[in-house]
Amino acid sequence: MTNWEKKYSYFRKRPKPKQMRKKILREVAIEQINNLLTKADHLIKTDFKLAQKYVEQARKIQMRTRVSLPNYWKKRICRHCKTLLKPGVNCKVRLSSTNRVVSIKCNICGQYNRFPYYKHKKR
Ligand SMILES: [Zn+2]
Repeated sequence: MTNWEKKYSYFRKRPKPKQMRKKILREVAIEQINNLLTKADHLIKTDFKLAQKYVEQARKIQMRTRVSLPNYWKKRICRHCKTLLKPGVNCKVRLSSTNRVVSIKCNICGQYNRFPYYKHKKR
């Protein structure tokens, strides 16, 4: 066994470092996003500007690391103006039975965010 081969076999046995790094980065990013958005959620009633700053930071992390937002937070951020929505503070939540949709009206830009809901399937 030459010296070069020894080195090569050593590297083959270890987990692929780049993929590992990516995985860890993703986990850390999601954790940070969750922390920032929960902070913003607590602050939004008293200090709207600071809360909005936290949301922007979370979005920047999300875009930089190319992580998709956790499902819970996807519905809490206005699609049009990117503010954090809190029912009773800056948005209205209604159900429409005709379209089978949860419509959330943002009071800041006045636009609607719609998410479908489905009835139970008949068996
Ligand atoms: Zn909006």
